[in-house]
Amino acid sequence: MTHTSESNLTALAGDDFLPGPVLLLGAPGVGKGTQAQLLVTKYGIPQISTGDLLRGNIARGSELGLKAKEIMSSGHLVDDEIVNQMVLHRLQEKDTHRGYILDGYPRTLEQAKYLDLTIAGPIFLPRLPVLAVSIVVPYDQLLERITGRRICSTCKHIYNMFSNAPKVVGVCDFDGASLMQRGDDTEAVFVERMKTFEAQTAPVVAHYHDLGRFEEADGNQSVEAVNIAIEQAIIKLRGATRR
Ligand SMILES: [Zn+2]
Repeated sequence: MTHTSESNLTALAGDDFLPGPVLLLGAPGVGKGTQAQLLVTKYGIPQISTGDLLRGNIARGSELGLKAKEIMSSGHLVDDEIVNQMVLHRLQEKDTHRGYILDGYPRTLEQAKYLDLTIAGPIFLPRLPVLAVSIVVPYDQLLERITGRRICSTCKHIYNMFSNAPKVVGVCDFDGASLMQRGDDTEAVFVERMKTFEAQTAPVVAHYHDLGRFEEADGNQSVEAVNIAIEQAIIKLRGATRR
């Protein structure tokens, strides 16, 4: 990093820095959950996940939750309309005024357009557009992260046969118990999940890219370095889209 970009980063990322709405994207296994939590802590903003919203609405028995429950129990997927309404309600809570991390939403182009129009309205704070940052890890690396994963049957310590192998193959370093592989940590499952992810994400990525609000962050480095890359992407995009 050059001295200039470092001082720019410090200048922009002070206490008054408004992260605004940030959509975090990433294929299965890139460490999106960990990175989202780091951003939540750093910026003091909430993470808004459609999975959590759905479970919360159903648990509370809200009107939207009851509708969603009915749709799901008939074996269908909850439609854009209901998901949009849940997000709209959530974004009116006070904790979103400096920004929020979006996880799993917008998932479709229609949702992305709805969100853009909604948060441009007068009641939504901060008055900043959505930025999208995608954590990118090379395909082969991701495959190794998933197919190499082994878990101790006793202490649940997680190993990786490629990057964090135990001293003895198949045996936990701490308690000598045997290591297990989860049933869905296979190449076949990974390939399917990647296909679904790419098909779902491509239109959303194209949408934000066309608006000049998309950046990639290199996910093939330490957790801390990935976090810095994401923050740099946010700061760069926010500098370009500040109103
Ligand atoms: Zn163990």
